[in-house]
Amino acid sequence: MSVLIVGSTALDSIKTPKAENPRLLGGSASHAAIAASFFGPVKLVGVVGKDFPKRYIQLYQKHGIDLKGLQIQEGKTFHWSGEYELNMNNRRTLLTELGVFEKFTPHLPDVHKNSPFVLLANIAPALQHHVLDQMRRPKFVIADTMDLWLNIALEDLVRLLKRVDAFVLNDSEAHQLTKEDNVFAALRKIHQLGPKYVIIKKGSHGSVLSSPRGFFLCPAYPLHKVLDPTGAGDSFVGGLVGYLAHTKGNVDRNIRRAMIHGSVVASFCCEGFGVTRTTKVSAKDIDRRVRELEALVRF
Ligand code: AMP
Repeated sequence: MSVLIVGSTALDSIKTPKAENPRLLGGSASHAAIAASFFGPVKLVGVVGKDFPKRYIQLYQKHGIDLKGLQIQEGKTFHWSGEYELNMNNRRTLLTELGVFEKFTPHLPDVHKNSPFVLLANIAPALQHHVLDQMRRPKFVIADTMDLWLNIALEDLVRLLKRVDAFVLNDSEAHQLTKEDNVFAALRKIHQLGPKYVIIKKGSHGSVLSSPRGFFLCPAYPLHKVLDPTGAGDSFVGGLVGYLAHTKGNVDRNIRRAMIHGSVVASFCCEGFGVTRTTKVSAKDIDRRVRELEALVRF
């Protein structure tokens, strides 16, 4: 079954204590779509400007990503820049040039409206609503967000939670949303806002799922060296929804394995700048790390 992914498509300029890489392929939808593409067909909806490099279009195409929903508009592509501290965890935004992203309205081509699996990757909640308004009864909708929307669009976000099956956020966002320091208390409060599945990401400490079948603690793959964690969260949720869409059986049964697959794809993302490492991964590489993670948590 196909996956529809709507989110940001960007050029990212990333600074770490050791390196600087300008104008990489970035954006929540780019990372998520590439991650999901390892498991089956993906449709991407986003917007770029006329300055968007052709080689990035070719990279999407190499991953079999359907670009009928990618708008190419007069103007500049969304440009985001961030800098990491020595610990490669704390990040500050240096620059956000919205360009064509400022007036982005996601229009779904008619053939996309029947997609059974939908990932509302990180964009303004009002745009995430607009996507759902166009869909015809999707089977499973998962949404991601960021602290910015909790600050400036909380009402829209809370309304969105009543319309999605699953919601993914990181631990600091969960704290901001619920005022709870305890992850399990936060999970309970977020369920009360609507979603059946809630996943709280804890960076290199993995993630926690709360679902009708109870909790699941998903490990992060143990990496010795992180080059650039930008997009790891997007890769996690992209891998997760890609795996779910292309695996027989229901979501309840498959979501734990889906998280493990998302975690593995996210680990590759951290090993290179932008999508440079992720785009070189093979199905065998993914399987190997999935087996390693399985061995790590079995007891
Ligand atoms: P993450 O590392 O998971 O926080 O995601 C990083 C990605 O988010 C980068 O590739 C950015 O291009 C993208 N991004 C940054 N700011 C925004 C924003 N305001 N809306 C949507 N995407 C953004």
